[in-house]
Amino acid sequence: MSEFLLPDEPKDQVYLDANATTPVLPCIAEVVCHAMQICFGNPSSPHITGIQAKHLLEQTRQKARTVIGAQQGDILFTSGATEGIQTAIVSTLINAKHHTKPNPVLLYGATEHKAVPNTLKHWNTVLEINADIIAIPVNRDGILDLDFIAQHIDDALMICTMAVNNETGVYQDLSAIEKVIRSRNSQVTWMVDCVQALGKQQLNLSETTIDYAPFSGHKLYAPKGIGLLYIRQGSPYTPFIAGGGQESGMRSGTENLPGIAGLNKLFSLLLDKQDETFKSIDVLNLYRDKLHSALVDTFGSITFNHDFACSVPTTLNFAVNDLTSKEVIDLFDAAGIRVSGGSACSTGATQSFVLDAMGASQWQSENAIRLSFGPAATMAQIDDACEQIRALKTVLQANCLVISDSSFPLQEVCALGLTQFRHQGACSWLYVTDDQYAFIIDPIIELIPRFEKIVTTQNLTITAILNTHEHQERHCALDLMRSALKEYLVAGEVDKLGWPTNSDTLQLTTHVLEKLATPGHSQDSVSYLLKANSGDVQYCFCGDLILPAGLGNTALDGGDAMQMAHSLTMLAAELNPQSVVCSGHDYQQCFAMNWAVQQQQTPLLQALLKGDINDAEFAAQKQQADLQQHTQANTLCGYVNAKPAVETSQLSFNQAKEILVKGNAYLIDTREPYEHGANNLSVLLNVPIAKTLNIPLSRMAHALTQGQLDKNNQYILVCRSGNRSKIAAANLTELGYSSVYNLSGGLALTG
Ligand code: PLP
Repeated sequence: MSEFLLPDEPKDQVYLDANATTPVLPCIAEVVCHAMQICFGNPSSPHITGIQAKHLLEQTRQKARTVIGAQQGDILFTSGATEGIQTAIVSTLINAKHHTKPNPVLLYGATEHKAVPNTLKHWNTVLEINADIIAIPVNRDGILDLDFIAQHIDDALMICTMAVNNETGVYQDLSAIEKVIRSRNSQVTWMVDCVQALGKQQLNLSETTIDYAPFSGHKLYAPKGIGLLYIRQGSPYTPFIAGGGQESGMRSGTENLPGIAGLNKLFSLLLDKQDETFKSIDVLNLYRDKLHSALVDTFGSITFNHDFACSVPTTLNFAVNDLTSKEVIDLFDAAGIRVSGGSACSTGATQSFVLDAMGASQWQSENAIRLSFGPAATMAQIDDACEQIRALKTVLQANCLVISDSSFPLQEVCALGLTQFRHQGACSWLYVTDDQYAFIIDPIIELIPRFEKIVTTQNLTITAILNTHEHQERHCALDLMRSALKEYLVAGEVDKLGWPTNSDTLQLTTHVLEKLATPGHSQDSVSYLLKANSGDVQYCFCGDLILPAGLGNTALDGGDAMQMAHSLTMLAAELNPQSVVCSGHDYQQCFAMNWAVQQQQTPLLQALLKGDINDAEFAAQKQQADLQQHTQANTLCGYVNAKPAVETSQLSFNQAKEILVKGNAYLIDTREPYEHGANNLSVLLNVPIAKTLNIPLSRMAHALTQGQLDKNNQYILVCRSGNRSKIAAANLTELGYSSVYNLSGGLALTG
């Protein structure tokens, strides 16, 4: 097992993800190290080293009291906010074990960090409280519904709200919430998650009836693994961690003194009126204005997902209209700008539950970007961030991700040849000729704005927009796309699949597109064959007749396995082993497949084409397989056989560098062109430009037919994290490229 190599300090990184975590300030790191090496004692030890440690501990507690305005009550050092939340909830629920409420409820804000509802659910079950756990709705601005609280607070055993939201920066009016709670229920315990408020808002906890307030060090320049919990005097309390009796028996375990020393320094900075580390609200507002302008100037059409008037200035949450969050984050990341998706704290989530609760559109919620900076950010850092964001504009323009203005005359042609566009498992294809004619296959509604930008920016003439069959789940995309691009579309009558009614072929300068009826998946299924002048089929757009490593479903209305057998045989007579099969779906992330490999990977197809089975036998087996699949998978249009797992060779950065010295070794950047354009890989990895290719997954099919790759060469594939390049490496290996390697961990681990 190789040792984990710490990457070097990132030179040009612009870190705008402070709500996720912050770097430890150098002066804080210094005292942390001091507490590890010099003042390293155990606060429970009776000797001088221990006494010194104990002094540091108690001094930090005192400073914490001043910072959060808590002269009364308890302050405990915890491992972080999640532990504070557990402690508060467990304390309340144990105390409520013998409550007499007929319909007990546990209330929490709908936009709360997941640590809160998940902890409520967990302990409500474990402790058998059996209360109803109810989310308090918020309005469009993310502000809690006070009437709702008023309605339910009588039945509540606990209410959990937050001071500042981590995704949007929206803050709540705590005194208004307090009035509603306490005018009706003086007993209910109230927890306020203050994690994102520290250093950004004044807190006077002892002057409120807040029972519990958790804090976390790593959100404000202290190390991870240290936090605080404030407990109001007299509020229910049960130690969450029992043991040696530290923290007056309230939280056992040897104290994390280095972390506490870090908090000590942090609090000193916050309390020192002369110190300028933490910026005033006016300065933070100015930072936000600057970033706001930089974003608008760069992306043009942006929707901000929260009202700045009720948000702390350190968080900007937005969606770039017509660009997915993945595209924006990839672009930012490639340029060294670290931001997060709106739902960053909920791993795997594609939509932000916070924005959903605020009634944002699905688009906003799915494509939210959160940009957050810490309150110790300097003007120089913010100016640098703005400059780096603005520098992306040329990349966006060159890649048709924004409509270019007339002051940018050198428009790069970004999509010559074939490009695949994907939305979930569905694929659209755009083919552009050297003289700017284009056709689109299998349009997808969600991709219309993207196509519009490409077509208008490149001033393409669209010869056809074609469906390979009337897709049951997206039949209207064709009409919508035709109307969106009507100014660029060649006039003339077309059939319901978009094919010109007066012609059998579509003539392009160096190619011809032919239509072949290939029923099977549906009655109206056709395939479009793009033939070079030589007559060779370069691309076969077969819709859902053939999918990578599989065949389309025939168990749908109009599906017919016998017809499919006939269509496949007919197609086989047209295709050559190198013809690239371009399907309507790619559930398995295959990206590019040629006819030879497609047959190898689809036993039923192979058996039919080799003559091992006849059409009737094919149909019988296909029907049976479809029936079986129908019950197992919910992929409407087709299914795939289990794609053979392909072993890819993984290389470390140093191994990659050794190979790249060889004459026939090349680096392939598998990221999209807009990412490739955002940083210079050949400089980063010290590889000559001539040996650096950019073949994104979306252009793999194109690369195959253009002879961009040579089976005698060695290729090292790279992307940001090593995931996309691994897929591409598997894909190329399947296609018979034997010397293909993946740079394990991607650019992230190149230092
Ligand atoms: N609450 C909020 C609002 C947060 O932003 C976070 C961290 O993302 C937490 C709680 C959890 O904090 P910790 O990482 O210290 O457990």
